[in-house]
Amino acid sequence: MEKAIPYKIYLEESELPKAWYNVKADMQVKPAPLLDPVTKKPITEEELSKVFCNELVKQELDETNAYIPIPEEILSFYKMYRPAPLVRAYCLEQKLKTPAKIYYKFEGNNTSGSHKLNSAIAQAYYAKKQGLKGVTTETGAGQWGTALSMACSYFGLDCKVFMVKVSYEQKPFRREVMRTYGASVTPSPSDKTEVGKKILSEHPGTSGSLGCAISEAVETASKLDGYRYVLGSVLNQVLLHQTIIGLETKTAMDKYGIKPDIIIGCAGGGSNLGGLISPFMGQKLRGEADYRFIAVEPESCPSLSRGKYVYDYCDTGRVCPLSKMYTLGSGFIPAPNHAGGLRYHGMSSTLSALYDQGYMEAVTVKQTEVFEAAEYFARIEGILPAPESSHAIKVAIDEAKKCIETGEEKTILFGLTGTGYFDMLAYEKFHDGNMVNYRPTDEEILNGLKNIPDVE
Ligand SMILES: *Cc1c(COP(=O)(O)O)cnc(C)c1O
Repeated sequence: MEKAIPYKIYLEESELPKAWYNVKADMQVKPAPLLDPVTKKPITEEELSKVFCNELVKQELDETNAYIPIPEEILSFYKMYRPAPLVRAYCLEQKLKTPAKIYYKFEGNNTSGSHKLNSAIAQAYYAKKQGLKGVTTETGAGQWGTALSMACSYFGLDCKVFMVKVSYEQKPFRREVMRTYGASVTPSPSDKTEVGKKILSEHPGTSGSLGCAISEAVETASKLDGYRYVLGSVLNQVLLHQTIIGLETKTAMDKYGIKPDIIIGCAGGGSNLGGLISPFMGQKLRGEADYRFIAVEPESCPSLSRGKYVYDYCDTGRVCPLSKMYTLGSGFIPAPNHAGGLRYHGMSSTLSALYDQGYMEAVTVKQTEVFEAAEYFARIEGILPAPESSHAIKVAIDEAKKCIETGEEKTILFGLTGTGYFDMLAYEKFHDGNMVNYRPTDEEILNGLKNIPDVE
């Protein structure tokens, strides 16, 4: 007999994952290697270690070990806010009158308000273990900076955050949360770095971009003794740490004999989506099970949906390694939208490869539709979702509505990556009817792709 499914499925402490899962180990065709931006040759462990922490470099390059044990210190930090609940959205199902069964994994139950803490704590741990004094990073919407500040204060590391200027000005509360946890926050572009000065002289009055803030953070780390740069998305190591999301989800679903048909996540740099789908993708790659995976992107920044699969710079300053990925070009500046975490020009190289190999789909959604879905969801399920997360909500609702027409009882799982308390200016715009949609023209996309590096 089927076990009754509770509204929230929690795991016992003894059931929590003890290792992250490295999906690359199960891929027949591996993602293309990172290249040195100058020589255009595959970058070595030694070269990467100048920028990133040693242990994280090992994780970045690992293509063979399927499971990477989670150190005790990280496991005990995880216990403070994990397991994250897997929720059966009974109320939403009833409201929609759909035969579909909807589940979501909620990652907003910590002060940083998103899944980013899962990787921040791991990266801070390895930096501490290496005896570093501190780390530098960039933050766009502010979730990553907040998560990293929390993680650094836990391990007693200094944390220098370059925050995209427009967010620095629009989100003073995020900034203050970071400072509460002891981080220093600098609006980017700044005059504290060479690359920042250059960008300021070329584009006076610019409100900044993620790519530019990355360059400033990398430069700062490379000039300071005992500092390394850390990144909150895109990289394999981040995706690896985020597999805690998918592993918990899969354990919880297996416990109740639930098998999702469709798994949906929003995609910025790809870390939450990659983390959620990895264990399921592993089964698909090994031929053990089949699932539909859907990446949801904003219409204004459609890396997978409309980008090109080529080597590109990860940052505007072109100091980071080159990555083969779906990209809109490092010079692509998306129209301002209210899902700051989804405005990156590129995509995780692992997800890019999986998409290229046909294992995953991608769709784009309009900003106003996203906020309609967000508000609908908040009123029914109670949680006030982040605009980023609401991209996944929108597509989950769409899929559930299709089931009404076909009568199919599909099981839909989506990642609810965070809460939207710091995004109320965006909600205000939506409520006042001042929110606009933006779809870049083909010409704008071609323009962004003009300066991709020349690599075979
Ligand atoms: C950063 C962020 C995202 C997007 O980042 P990914 O690396 O693509 O997961 C999504 N949702 C929230 C709440 C975020 O903070």
